[in-house]
Amino acid sequence: MRCSTCHHTLWNQPAPTDGSPRVCSECGTPYAVADFAFRRGKVAFSCPHCAQVYFGTSPTGHLEPATFACASCGGAVTMEQCVLRPVGVQSDTEAMLFKPLPWLESGGLFARWRGTLKFGISEGADVPMALAGREPMGAAIGFLAMQGWVSGLIPLFVGLLAVFGPSIMSGIVGFGGGNAVAMGMLTWQVASYIALPLWICASVSVAAFGTSLLGASLGLGFRRAFVIIAFASGGLIFALIPFCGGLVGIIVWAVQASRAIAAALPPGRRVGPVFLALLGGFVAFLTVNVTWFVARIFLIM
Ligand SMILES: [Zn+2]
Ligand SMILES: [Zn+2]
Repeated sequence: MRCSTCHHTLWNQPAPTDGSPRVCSECGTPYAVADFAFRRGKVAFSCPHCAQVYFGTSPTGHLEPATFACASCGGAVTMEQCVLRPVGVQSDTEAMLFKPLPWLESGGLFARWRGTLKFGISEGADVPMALAGREPMGAAIGFLAMQGWVSGLIPLFVGLLAVFGPSIMSGIVGFGGGNAVAMGMLTWQVASYIALPLWICASVSVAAFGTSLLGASLGLGFRRAFVIIAFASGGLIFALIPFCGGLVGIIVWAVQASRAIAAALPPGRRVGPVFLALLGGFVAFLTVNVTWFVARIFLIM
């Protein structure tokens, strides 16, 4: 159980008695006990009044019910007021329940990619918990590159068909110097396909930057936002459906990334960063598409 900003330990920290949110004692980032998932029986919750110990019984190791009268002192106990400490484990990370993010686990490339797709399509809200304070930028960029190159296959194929379709039909296949326009278009199609991950990473950077404007003070800085948005990108795969698939993919990604960003923020402080992420993503999407369109016109002329 670590602070998402400075990784300071959050064990053995008493909750404020005036009902204000818990904050990291080192850097002041707010957090809630409910943001963390624990292995059952490995975390002791102490009554804030008398230190009587309780153990969580929910699948995420949380106290059930949420509010109850202490069996020892009779005082009202809520999980958010308890002092927590790991018990019976060698290292405190063993007390945590991490939902594994397949891309960061061992195994074959295809299996890890497919498993991470599932997260991005239906379980966006679980991405922050799966990351558990980790911010693996390199792995996130690797995943985005694979996403770009796979989801770009059908658009590439359609693009190539547009270039060569007419030539093939009229019996003139111009690979030589004779068909400069077709050669130019071919180069353009292939180059923009190879560069897809670059554009996707740039768009994610803009969205992450937008998120961090309001999110940084809430523990969601640029790196964490980038990684979260990247691993919520499973929906991009819908671009493999010809014609409308690309748009569907972007919408699924926007929805799941919003859920993921929201899940990484304290309740009540989620709207601003999510809005800026979507705005950043939209501006980046528009910029990339306009640039692509203009460059294409210049290439043909
Ligand atoms: Zn901290
Ligand atoms: Zn008590």
